[in-house]
Amino acid sequence: MKVLVAVKRVVDYNVKIRVKADGSGVDTTNVKFTMNPFDESAVEEAVRLKEAGKASEIVVVSMGPQQAQDTIRTGLAMGADRGILVASDAELQPLAVAKLLKALVDKEQPSLVLVGKQAIDDDSNQTGQMVAALLGWPQGTFASKLVIDGGKADVTREIDGGLETVSLSLPAVVTVDLRLNEPRYASLPNIMKAKKKPIETVSPSDLGIDVAPRLVTLKVEEPARRQAGVKVASVAELVGKLKTEAKVI
Ligand code: AMP
Repeated sequence: MKVLVAVKRVVDYNVKIRVKADGSGVDTTNVKFTMNPFDESAVEEAVRLKEAGKASEIVVVSMGPQQAQDTIRTGLAMGADRGILVASDAELQPLAVAKLLKALVDKEQPSLVLVGKQAIDDDSNQTGQMVAALLGWPQGTFASKLVIDGGKADVTREIDGGLETVSLSLPAVVTVDLRLNEPRYASLPNIMKAKKKPIETVSPSDLGIDVAPRLVTLKVEEPARRQAGVKVASVAELVGKLKTEAKVI
């Protein structure tokens, strides 16, 4: 079984985000980029499937600028076999990424596509669902457990009332939650080995996909600053403040 994993290069989750002065987006100068954390769990799961003898090949794909190669290398160092970079300096919105992924799936014919449940930069939570729809494949979203057996994927997912398990026929798309696993750190020997693994570079036009944005960002702004809290000495004081100051009761 071939597994295709989508890995996005995003601003590292530890970075304190700065909004550009003109409100047109996030300032990314001199900012550390890493693999989207949900995608690390997706790669980890693929590697575990390979170690368990259930996956034969893992292909990691990333769409974005040339530097997204580093994200692919991280996936290769974790245990993926080869990478594909769809090189583009354009802003790639989820629909464009989903179309690119579909084109790669048509070419690569994997049995399983793993993507993160969301990218921590745009928080869209759309790509996996869109690619499943474009392919006409079953989808299991927000997987916190994945069991592959005999042409089926059982996906356990968190829902409001608890856990739900859906059974999908392969080929299928699964979007991955952080609870699925604890991603491994790549060891130094594996980082060295990853340098020799192949990465193919293609462009959106090679795949016949128009990636022009369909959405326009009007404005990006910092969240309002929270005011400092106060400590109250008693329940009576709390109730008083809720009544007279916050006016919520
Ligand atoms: P989103 O729908 O943008 O929240 O992203 C969900 C998932 O789609 C991510 O966790 C990635 O697995 C995948 N994805 C989104 N954008 C890209 C990209 N530019 N390159 C590779 N994978 C991506």
